[in-house]
Amino acid sequence: MTHFRFEFHPYRRKFKRPLQTKHGNWQFRQGIILRLSDNCDHIAFGEIAPLSWFGSETFEQALAFCRQLPSQIDEEIIFSIPNELPACQFGFESAWETLISNPQIPQSRQLPLSYLLPAKEAALQEWQPLWNQGYRTFKWKIGIAPIKEELQIFHQLVRSLPAAAKLRLDANGGLNYMQAQKWLQVCDEIGGIVEFLEQPLAVEALEATLELSKRFSTPIALDESVATLSQMQESYQRGWRGIFVIKPSIVGSPRRLREFCQSRQIDAVFSSAFETAIGRQAALNLAAELSRHNRAVGFGVSQWFEDEDESWIQELCQIY
Ligand SMILES: [Mg+2]
Repeated sequence: MTHFRFEFHPYRRKFKRPLQTKHGNWQFRQGIILRLSDNCDHIAFGEIAPLSWFGSETFEQALAFCRQLPSQIDEEIIFSIPNELPACQFGFESAWETLISNPQIPQSRQLPLSYLLPAKEAALQEWQPLWNQGYRTFKWKIGIAPIKEELQIFHQLVRSLPAAAKLRLDANGGLNYMQAQKWLQVCDEIGGIVEFLEQPLAVEALEATLELSKRFSTPIALDESVATLSQMQESYQRGWRGIFVIKPSIVGSPRRLREFCQSRQIDAVFSSAFETAIGRQAALNLAAELSRHNRAVGFGVSQWFEDEDESWIQELCQIY
């Protein structure tokens, strides 16, 4: 069995403005850059970028896992990382894949990008310059202001967007059943411009979400409900045939993700978990490989950080 030299480097990045999540304000993104090398001087990097409030392990758990590993590891170690550490599974396996495909890293096809508009009425001013830059898919968060107010803004937004635009509505699980039903009714009346309604109900409300998906023609996507591969499998078993939003960095093993998506013909939308260029590239490669309907990917996030240019990553890779 091949042995790899293993090194790791924890990082901490500051958001320009704290990111509002359901579990409070998020100020720093912490993660770990991994480096694997073999005795032929092939080198590859991977990234562990946990989002514990979204269902993965914590940064501290990932760090503890890296610290207890020896400096020489092999494939047996990489492929036996427990399911409780999905971000570690992703980081190690993607580094390993890059290393064994060296020097020919496959050129992945480019998927269109989706752009996250600001919440509430600020969205109305923001889409136009982005449209001019070539963006065609926009995402808008709902379930933040009172529904009456949001529906008004939504109608204005839909009227102003060109017919070729696609709009994704993301409720982050923040709607109740009546509100979700109202949004779906309105989207059905409007027709094609709404690509899907994302995670309308809470993670636990899969039965109700299944029922809504059968009653309305506007597609529904699950996101928070399918953060990890085990949750994806469970939702599929319980009958979910709608869209799965996949954040590769926290979903778990890329190898098992491939098997699942390909054998079940999953309709997947890929999105970032605020990882650096290293995790992002690995995630985009998977997206290009597994996206079946050319759906736009949500990966435009480096602008959220103070170290927007990510120059420290290049420096880090050179130091190593
Ligand atoms: Mg979402």
